[in-house]
Amino acid sequence: MQTITTVAELRCALTEHRRADKRIGFVPTMGYLHDGHLALIEASRAQCDVTVVSIFVNPTQFGPNEDLSTYPRDFQRDEKLCRDAGVAIVFAPASQEIYPDRFETFVEPGELAKPLCGAFRPGHFRGVATVVCKLFNMVQPDVAFFGQKDFQQCAVVRRMAIDLNLLIKIVIVPTVREAGRLAMSSRNRYLNGEDQRRALAISRGLFAAAEEFALGERNVDKLIAIAKRHLETVDQLQYLELVDCDTLKPAVSPLHRAAALCVGAYVGATRLIDNVILQPTP
Ligand code: AMP
Repeated sequence: MQTITTVAELRCALTEHRRADKRIGFVPTMGYLHDGHLALIEASRAQCDVTVVSIFVNPTQFGPNEDLSTYPRDFQRDEKLCRDAGVAIVFAPASQEIYPDRFETFVEPGELAKPLCGAFRPGHFRGVATVVCKLFNMVQPDVAFFGQKDFQQCAVVRRMAIDLNLLIKIVIVPTVREAGRLAMSSRNRYLNGEDQRRALAISRGLFAAAEEFALGERNVDKLIAIAKRHLETVDQLQYLELVDCDTLKPAVSPLHRAAALCVGAYVGATRLIDNVILQPTP
């Protein structure tokens, strides 16, 4: 496995693979890897010849009062996990490599970036779209892998790939969960034992609604109310919304199109997100 920190070296290493007609898979991450990230790597290994993982805590997607400076980092552990998982290249650039002096050009997503997390994290998806676009241009992968846990991010990235004619297949990998069904996240390490227990309310609420949906419930308000009952133990519920999977606009009763039930909530000082997809069978 190669660890690379500059764009010039990365291009050089990838040229060789491209000359050999290798299919390149790309997994962008902010590091502090867990089994969710490893599922993306596994999917890439299954579908591609060469897997590139980027580890970059992207400053432009953090708001001024968010956790950029305290975001968990453990590069040596990440490197070992990548090596053991069969990654070919870890790309771990310094901030200056991605955002050199006088950088001023951003990718501005549209309507998909406005609801849900976008309403509480102004500029977040602009930062995400910009860094993902830049990383796509650096790696030029055939396929890129993203996790369903960040449902709105998937929608924004998929839209960007179409709108900007990026010839990259976007694959979405199902959310990997802890034993209690809490969605895995690098931020889970902020949770103390009591917070961990209270955070389980999020997936409990989502799955309670999904179970009623499976039993035939198609009313949007009722499905939201079922989830909400469980969410009373979180400290601040930022949003609990059932949205159309394609437009992210509020879903309409009775549900007859794929919809995502999405939550953003604080448990203690930690902001967590999660979702389940409700897919009506025709
Ligand atoms: P992050 O390092 O949190 O920016 O995440 C990097 C990638 O891993 C994103 O595409 C995430 O959606 C994905 N990811 C994070 N957590 C999970 C999870 N629990 N299951 C599946 N994918 C995940």
